[in-house]
Amino acid sequence: MLKIGYLKLNNPLAIISSDGSGYLGSFDGSAGLIMLGRFNLDEISPSEIKRAIDRVSTRSARGFSVVGGGLEELAEAAEMAAREGHLMEVELPRNEGICDLVGPVKNAGAVLSVRASRDAVEDLGSLARELREAGADLLHLDLRGLGPAALKVVKKVSDAGAPPLVVRFDLGDFEGARDVLSMGADIISLSENADPDFVAWLADTLKRFYEIVGWYNAPKHICSGGDLRGMAFCCPPVKNCPLLGALKKIGVTPQEFVKRKLELTRDTPLEPGEGTCFGSLAWCCKITKPCFMRDAVLDRHGISPDEYMRLKKKLAEDLLKA
Ligand code: SF4
Ligand code: SF4
Repeated sequence: MLKIGYLKLNNPLAIISSDGSGYLGSFDGSAGLIMLGRFNLDEISPSEIKRAIDRVSTRSARGFSVVGGGLEELAEAAEMAAREGHLMEVELPRNEGICDLVGPVKNAGAVLSVRASRDAVEDLGSLARELREAGADLLHLDLRGLGPAALKVVKKVSDAGAPPLVVRFDLGDFEGARDVLSMGADIISLSENADPDFVAWLADTLKRFYEIVGWYNAPKHICSGGDLRGMAFCCPPVKNCPLLGALKKIGVTPQEFVKRKLELTRDTPLEPGEGTCFGSLAWCCKITKPCFMRDAVLDRHGISPDEYMRLKKKLAEDLLKA
């Protein structure tokens, strides 16, 4: 369902064990990722971390988070992570700059997540951009205690051009999970105290949602408050609407947007659209918005609803590429 470097997650839920004890048997593979932490590299060696992880018997992907240590210790831990196929997460703040931090870990071949809380970093948007440019694979945001305002932060950071986002927040139900995913989160992280039955149920529900919809964290339409990925569902900018503000954010004129969307969908299954509002599926709405005109084109061309959404996902990624 989700591939990040050598990591494969079969659902977008991560369980974070903060005491490193590794007693996570109750999740029995229901989470996509199990992460142990936080290990202080000033006090513990990579081989000791490996032993702690080896004690966790699970079908989930595994990872660990670290604090402390210098660049040399980070690189050694990263070599172990790469060798074992684990995710390595580094917690901010640290003394090194972002490039100095990301370089050694990526050079060692590890999949790297950087964890930040909203209090530890002044400008999460700039951090997100810097991390993406430096080559980090994930940004893990701790937004607990923010309530509904967490959604706005996720959208802002996602729109700033973040790497894939892991978000920790106060999750209570499926709606909450869907809301945060639709704002640009890729993975939701929960503590080891989460109810295992709830985690298993939510993981299963999200997997089924993905099978039906094809894009488990699809954005809302821009005019419904969606993040910039929602441009994949936008019509041509022929009237005054929130798309104009979104285009300003990415420095693209309405004319360039039309040209780019047409170029990106030419000779693809999204090109046809006879009978739709704008003559091409390129401009058509999200599959969850009922529309018999779009559905007739999908039927005629043998495109399933989930395939349509996967094509829109690719279109969103290409539209937002620098
Ligand atoms: S272009 Fe269409 S879908 Fe996009 S924000 Fe405007 S009205 Fe909404
Ligand atoms: S044809 Fe339907 S899906 Fe396509 S833009 Fe019009 S309303 Fe949206």
